[in-house]
This record gives sequence, structure tokens and C-alpha cells, in this order.
Amino acid sequence: MGSGNAIRGSRVGAGPMGEAERGEAAPRVRVSFWCANMHETRPSFASDAAIPELWDCPRCGLPAGQDENAPPAPPKNEPYKTHLAYVKERRSDKDGKAILQEALERLRNNKSPW
Ligand SMILES: [Zn+2]
Repeated sequence: MGSGNAIRGSRVGAGPMGEAERGEAAPRVRVSFWCANMHETRPSFASDAAIPELWDCPRCGLPAGQDENAPPAPPKNEPYKTHLAYVKERRSDKDGKAILQEALERLRNNKSPW
């Protein structure tokens, strides 16, 4: 006993300390959004990213919100209108029906209505 050998102590604190987790995927969070058609979409965001209040529904394009029970209302003026809707808006209902009839007849004749 007492040979004088230095104690081969393990150096306290030799382990990896304070190393940032690099090279690994940043932690992500998934957030659910619901549109007015109750489509749920769950995009993932970087945990340090700002999560938007609204998200476009990938299925129908309506804005989707994070509150399942109160999805945002669809916008009233849809950006795209069919040609027929545009025509009907500009003309009387009667003219619109005549145009529709004409289109149907053209369809029957196997021609493109537009
Ligand atoms: Zn939707």
C-alpha cells in the first residue's frame, strides 16, 4: 500500500460539454391547420420559425387556420371564374341560359363549346 503511484483519476469534466448539436436536422414541430372544408393539413416548421396564422389548404386552396372549430371563412371573391360565370354575370339570366343551351348543342355536335 502506499506505493506512491498517482491515482489515475478520471478527469472530471472531460466529457463533451457544451457542444452544439450540429449536422442534425433542426427540430421541427408539426402544426395542424383546418380550412373551411375541414381539410386538415399538418405542415412542419422549424421549431424556431414563426408559425403563420393561416396556411393555404393544399386540397382546396382555402385559407386554413389553427382553430379546428373556427376555420377562417373562405374569401368571397374567388380569383378565378369560369367563362360561363363571367358571361352570366354580364348578361341576363335568360341570355345565360341561351348561351348554355348553345354550348350544350355544340357539345352534342362534338365541338368545343368555347
Ligand atoms: Zn381544404
